[in-house]
Amino acid sequence: MRSPKINFNDDFLKRQNDKSKAILKTIDPSKITESSEIQRKNKNFCKACFYGPPKIVLQAFWQCNCVYCDEDMTFANSDISHSCDKCAKEESVCSHCCADMD
Ligand SMILES: [Zn+2]
Ligand SMILES: [Zn+2]
Repeated sequence: MRSPKINFNDDFLKRQNDKSKAILKTIDPSKITESSEIQRKNKNFCKACFYGPPKIVLQAFWQCNCVYCDEDMTFANSDISHSCDKCAKEESVCSHCCADMD
């Protein structure tokens, strides 16, 4: 399965940031510990993607392209990331949803 190409623009980034902030409000702060934060930063996920509720995923191989460098990426289910790790680090964004890291 190939994920449709994202129209990568300011609108997309704003939407992802809004979503990330909305999920962040629902997260129990006691879940956020020093060691979980290290894990989260290693994974390059924003708080919403790392601590947020699990998503309903479709078990199938999904392919998509990094929104920054267009690199081909493959995931084991429909919960795909939008950016490769390298670009996420360079841009200081969440590799999963492209919202700002905090
Ligand atoms: Zn990339
Ligand atoms: Zn995220």
